[in-house]
Amino acid sequence: MSRPRGADSPHVGGSGPSWLTVVQCVVAGVVVGLVAVEAGSWRGELRRSGVRWSATWSLALAAVCLLNGLVGVAPPGPVGGAILFARFCAFGAAVVLALPAVQAYACGPAARLPVTLLVSWFAAAAALWWTTPLLHAGFGPDGLPVHGALVPIVELVPVVLVGAYVLRAVRGLEVTTAGTVVAACAVLAMVTLVAGAVAPSTSAAELLRGLWVLPLVAGLEVLAAARVRAVRRAADRRARMRDAIAHVSNAAWLVRTPDDLLLTARDRCRELLGDPSIQGTLRPLSRDRFVTEFYSADGHALLPDEQSFLRDLARVVSNAAERHTLTTKLRRAAYTDALTGLHNRPALDKHLAAVLGKAEVESTRVAVLFCGLSGFRHANDLRGREWGDRLLQRVAAQLREVLGDGAFVARHGGDDFVAVIERAPGDTELLALARRVHQRFEHLTHRSPATPLSVGVAAWRPGEVRDVDGLVRGADLAMQAAQRTGRGAAFYDEALRAEFVARTTMRRELEAAIGAGDIVVHFQPLTDSETLEVVALEALARWRRHGELVLPKEWLPLAEETGLIVEIGRQVFTAAREASERYELPVAVNVSARQLDEADFVRQVEQSWGPGAWHRLTIEVTESALLHDQAHAREALATLAARGVRIALDDFGTGYNSLARLGDLPVHVIKVDQAFVRASGTPEGDAVLRAVLAVARAHGLEVVAEGVERAEELTTLVGMGVGVVQGFMLGRPAPTLPIRGRRPAPRLVGRPTAAVPVQRLAPAATA
Ligand code: C2E
Ligand code: MG
Ligand code: MG
Repeated sequence: MSRPRGADSPHVGGSGPSWLTVVQCVVAGVVVGLVAVEAGSWRGELRRSGVRWSATWSLALAAVCLLNGLVGVAPPGPVGGAILFARFCAFGAAVVLALPAVQAYACGPAARLPVTLLVSWFAAAAALWWTTPLLHAGFGPDGLPVHGALVPIVELVPVVLVGAYVLRAVRGLEVTTAGTVVAACAVLAMVTLVAGAVAPSTSAAELLRGLWVLPLVAGLEVLAAARVRAVRRAADRRARMRDAIAHVSNAAWLVRTPDDLLLTARDRCRELLGDPSIQGTLRPLSRDRFVTEFYSADGHALLPDEQSFLRDLARVVSNAAERHTLTTKLRRAAYTDALTGLHNRPALDKHLAAVLGKAEVESTRVAVLFCGLSGFRHANDLRGREWGDRLLQRVAAQLREVLGDGAFVARHGGDDFVAVIERAPGDTELLALARRVHQRFEHLTHRSPATPLSVGVAAWRPGEVRDVDGLVRGADLAMQAAQRTGRGAAFYDEALRAEFVARTTMRRELEAAIGAGDIVVHFQPLTDSETLEVVALEALARWRRHGELVLPKEWLPLAEETGLIVEIGRQVFTAAREASERYELPVAVNVSARQLDEADFVRQVEQSWGPGAWHRLTIEVTESALLHDQAHAREALATLAARGVRIALDDFGTGYNSLARLGDLPVHVIKVDQAFVRASGTPEGDAVLRAVLAVARAHGLEVVAEGVERAEELTTLVGMGVGVVQGFMLGRPAPTLPIRGRRPAPRLVGRPTAAVPVQRLAPAATA
């Protein structure tokens, strides 16, 4: 559509810039400048938000604006024509770019098709621009551009299409101030554009064509500024959200429980999102997993970044809860005995230290009960580990039950349990409690092999040194004393302390004595009851201590308990072998249960006794040691017996269940205990003696009677047919040859020390 020129043109038409040209150039420059500023302030978030399209659109509009201004000063001719063409192209670009810009801003529907259509439309128009005056009609004589007849159609149809798309895209969008301003500007721009396009070609129409873009550009810049501000605000908020997450993550290491952390996180959410109705929940799932959730109780809709903030925060809380559970479990495992579920030793030490500290402040007493099962190791070997584990578990459960919640019960290790009692009562009550605990376990541990529970008590009083180890050790010593004495319960008092010191000293001295050769061996003869000839010797150990000989009863229990008896036994075997060689007599050596316990007992005997001459060796074991039910001990004795060693059952009759089981044992001789000999001469004593002898004979065993002190005893024994007797009356233990009686002549030749004249029933020599 061609339009006639107006006479009142504001343009100078190549003679110099009018005020409109200046305004348009300035506006174009301002827009370019603003876009540049905007681009400079772009951050990652802005870039992603599609602001690039609106910036590009702004640039296209700025180009339109600039070219509008240039049209006003363009000289008619090819330069002016080129400017008009450029303006048309810029217009086309601005119209096309409106689509992706609106789509990005309003998240509108796909714009690919309309973009393609419009690009094709404008490309076709541009291609035809120079060929037909319907599009490009050049300049009129008044210097105003003359538009082709098709120009309004070519320009307005795409504008209508874009308008329709925009209306569709912004439908349903929240109405904001910036949005309202932009809409108003866009409407103004459209009205201006349409008016300019359809108006006859006058200077007023040209003015409208030059001005339409200005409101749109202004609106866009308002929008861009609002958008930049909003995105900046959002970026700031995201930074604060990150800070909040970091704060909660750090707090996770400091708070005591996951619930505390949940509250901290919830408060942060409320503060940051400005929503006091935000609530948090922390729920456990299976396998120590947790799920945390934050939500607005008032149902406020949350923005996507707020939702992802709440999700991240929830994850932090869940992770912290899982970590907390795991650490708690590990800590519990580190302080719990796996078998019994009781506290373990480190937990006991920690607890006792804390309790003593508290008791000092409160000025109260603390008691420690040390409970140990006697013979547990042996019973465990005999009945198997599973049985042992079950017993320990039952003991643990019952200890908890008997001592109640007030006591801290721990497994100290092996078969030892320790209970700590705060605000403990007096010594008498504590001892009574210990006795009750001991008695309570009698039914549980009485079955053979018996494993009685002994209880030792130690008390700490305010003002005493706070020594955790010392207190437990004291209770342990009391327990050992209770075991030794068989009383079942004992209190760690001054007497026990003194006893402990004495035992420690004795142990040290005994150790030194073994090293210094102060364990000496005496020999007591075993004589034929008829002829009183010495038929064998028994080796008996003595301790030469401070110039005096100390008998075994003083130190043997300690030596057995500490294992020193093993080394003593070696020395006795060696001395026994020497005596056997020297006197050409069989020798009996006493062996205690503790020695038999040694895994290499047979090898030890071989080494200390030396090679051969096994038939000259008798090993004396007490009934209780042999009836200990230890397969290992029986096996060792059977091995030695197979080589010719004779096994004698010492102190026979004092054991528990001997008679019935004699047949099973690898025994050749029984040594009737001196208690039976002492009781002889009375009808009852003789009857018992006869019964014992009958059992021995029934099993084909030799009999030796021990402790014969009086002639009547000897007469009775001879009358009952006892072949070999031993006792002070016949010879006391002595370092050399405490022999009274005739030796077989041929063997004694050349051995003056052994040549003791026969002297029947004469008083014995004293060792
Ligand atoms: P035992 O094997 O029954 O030894 C006999 C004990 O009775 C010896 O006491 C002996 O001196 C004592 N005796 C002997 N005749 C009479 C008597 O007529 N009247 C009285 N009242 N006592 C008599 P001793 O030497 O004090 O030994 C005590 C126990 O110590 C021994 O009893 C034995 O079981 C143990 N023993 C001694 N030496 C050793 C050793 O080297 N190793 C081991 N394991 N135990 C030993
Ligand atoms: Mg003996
Ligand atoms: Mg004996």
